[in-house]
Amino acid sequence: MRAVAALLLLAACSGASAGSDSGAAYTLPLGPDGSSAPLVVPFDGVSDGVAIDVTAPGCFRLAGAPRGSGAPRAGRFVFALEGELEVAFEVIDCATLTPIPANDTGAALEVTVTPFVIRDIDRVPLRLHFEPDPSLARELDDLLAPAGLSVRIETTAEAARTDATFHAGDVDALAPLATLAPGAIDVVLAGCLRFDDPIFGPPATLDAYTPRIPGGFGPADAIYVRGADCASSDPIELEPRALARLIAHEVGHVLGLHHTVETDGSTDTLDDTSADNLMHHNPSRAAALGWSASQARIMERHLSAMEATRP
Ligand SMILES: [Zn+2]
Repeated sequence: MRAVAALLLLAACSGASAGSDSGAAYTLPLGPDGSSAPLVVPFDGVSDGVAIDVTAPGCFRLAGAPRGSGAPRAGRFVFALEGELEVAFEVIDCATLTPIPANDTGAALEVTVTPFVIRDIDRVPLRLHFEPDPSLARELDDLLAPAGLSVRIETTAEAARTDATFHAGDVDALAPLATLAPGAIDVVLAGCLRFDDPIFGPPATLDAYTPRIPGGFGPADAIYVRGADCASSDPIELEPRALARLIAHEVGHVLGLHHTVETDGSTDTLDDTSADNLMHHNPSRAAALGWSASQARIMERHLSAMEATRP
């Protein structure tokens, strides 16, 4: 069974602004393999994209490639609307990240679809949970300029540098690190960050992390940067240029970008990216900076959606 969101777009686009109030709600039944029924959003000729908020009975992810974007229990996805859009989701085990047959969940996904029109937005709002070096904003602007973006740093706070051990299916340990709020991308200077995958261990030390692609506003939805040595617990003071590189890479994730090449060799679906890019899985190692045209377009779209569908 396909859930068709036709009436929604006609209704929502007649308003002056596409706030979250204009979204329409749907229930997507889960099939025997844990996949949801497809959600079909027709092309209305007016909207540039749709934001789809999903609430699931457990962890879930977008069905189909590319995967690897975390496994939240609720979250927002943003899609361009260049024709009819058909998407589906699958409920997965939080620990193993494998699909759960619907018989085990006995529930459906609740989704809200909100159309938006791309606005001319080029400032990325960042809320830094640490006192930045005065040159950090300039370094970030230099890295984002090729995508036509710059940063707007809204507030700062003292860094708590709290340690956290977590994995993609369980990011609860990140939640206590900072109080997050909608309206900007929170950047948290943490202590030691350990990614402890229950299947593929051993625990790995991360330089930076964001729980899912694209980001939105949900549990632990922020950029976390490691600010302490995991062995000694001594604080780490990154050079502004190195810190900006980590943050710009995570901003890319929050604004919808996958790694150009994953550690397992799989690649993103964009045809104008190469391995040597700021979205390399290890941004500190990528020789080339900058963004491809497709990457810039995706980031602009997500930024617009963030503003247009802000909770
Ligand atoms: Zn990354």
